[in-house]
Amino acid sequence: MAELNPFKISQIQLDEAVGVLGLDKGTHELLRWPMREFRFTLPVKMDTGETRVFHGYRVQYNGARGPTKGGLRWHPDETIDTVRALAAWMTWKTAVVDIPLGGGKGGVTCNPKEMSDGEKERLARAYIRAAAPHLAVDRDVPAPDVYTTPQIMAWMMDEYETIAGHKHPGMITGKPIPLGGSQGRGDATARGGVYTVREAAKVLNIDAAKATYAVQGFGNAGQFGASLHQEILGGGTLVAISDSGGGVMSKSGIDPQKAIHHKLETGRVAGLPGTTPISNEDLLELDVDVLYPSALENVITGDNAGKIKAKISCELANGPTTPEADKILFEKGVFVIPDFLANAGGVTVSYFEQVQNTYNYYWTLDDIHSQLDRKMTDAFQAVYAMSKKEKVHMRLAAYLVSVSRVAEACKLRGWV
Ligand code: NAD
Repeated sequence: MAELNPFKISQIQLDEAVGVLGLDKGTHELLRWPMREFRFTLPVKMDTGETRVFHGYRVQYNGARGPTKGGLRWHPDETIDTVRALAAWMTWKTAVVDIPLGGGKGGVTCNPKEMSDGEKERLARAYIRAAAPHLAVDRDVPAPDVYTTPQIMAWMMDEYETIAGHKHPGMITGKPIPLGGSQGRGDATARGGVYTVREAAKVLNIDAAKATYAVQGFGNAGQFGASLHQEILGGGTLVAISDSGGGVMSKSGIDPQKAIHHKLETGRVAGLPGTTPISNEDLLELDVDVLYPSALENVITGDNAGKIKAKISCELANGPTTPEADKILFEKGVFVIPDFLANAGGVTVSYFEQVQNTYNYYWTLDDIHSQLDRKMTDAFQAVYAMSKKEKVHMRLAAYLVSVSRVAEACKLRGWV
């Protein structure tokens, strides 16, 4: 459906923010489109000896505030439109946490689940050979995203340094720790999200240590979210979790560590001892204090938003709520912590990784956690203050904060 095209959605959200900010036409048009897009045709020798041609992308959405930054997705359904939308959201994400970076994103249409390690390495190196002239620590910096890993980042850095003839660890983030990766990158997205839930609970007068919560999507973001909720907030009852194979629930509580262990052993959450099955749709409508949508786009829509009972929805996933649903949730009083604020912890620690690479001096895990907490707390407070001032929902408030920062940078540069 055209209305659920993620790039179209990102433009609708921007249009609303520009209307409230009263930006001029030129600035509006500039912010609606990526500043630069690349498409790469990548021939790769497969293990059979034949050559397969893959299609890759890199979108540099807006670099007014600094070098563009954003992950690389390797997915069979990857299209230029998803990459564009994600690049736009990266622009607002780096601005909302006020780090000196712009937004970008990249991808390759491929199915890594069907590729050997050798084939993945050759694809990673082919991508860098094509993209290298457009990447650099002061130009555009990729990172892992769906189905790309620290190992893939390591191959990419090695190829880039081979081309350049000298060391450039900061040209890519999410690297393995022995190659200049940062402590604390693995759980940074979920950790940042839980910090914002802690702040939201304070302003809503919810006792976070006694809150009930449910997690849709039990992958990287969802698993860390499930366990860090209790670790950071000092308690809470996890009542339901799900993955693409369905969900499970228990009113008396699910132990996050046992659930992670079960998922690792069986590949799914279904069948976790002491739980009963629940569908992904019903999980979203549970009467819990906090809901963590941590799977896919467009799961909370005009059709089900009226049935959401959670007090807080912390969007660890990108784009889980449609614009139509946003309005309904706001009217119902559901407090949404929007995706590009809630899941900004990942790019924030990626930025810390770049800073450490530049200084060639590495921080402790405690340093990372305290710096991340400060960034996420400041960002939450700025967005919350804007939502009160303008009497708007948190997503629009986050856009108002971010878009005004990016627009100001464009203006100062004389672009508009
Ligand atoms: P992942 O692949 O590790 O996990 C995704 C989980 O969602 C899996 O458990 C999968 O089974 C489940 N899932 C898939 N389809 C589902 C469905 N229809 N219903 C319920 N569950 C379903 O991915 P991830 O890294 O955890 O990313 C999840 C979301 O968080 C994505 O939107 C991603 O863009 C966003 N995000 C992740 C990070 C990060 O650092 N990992 C950063 C920012 C945003």
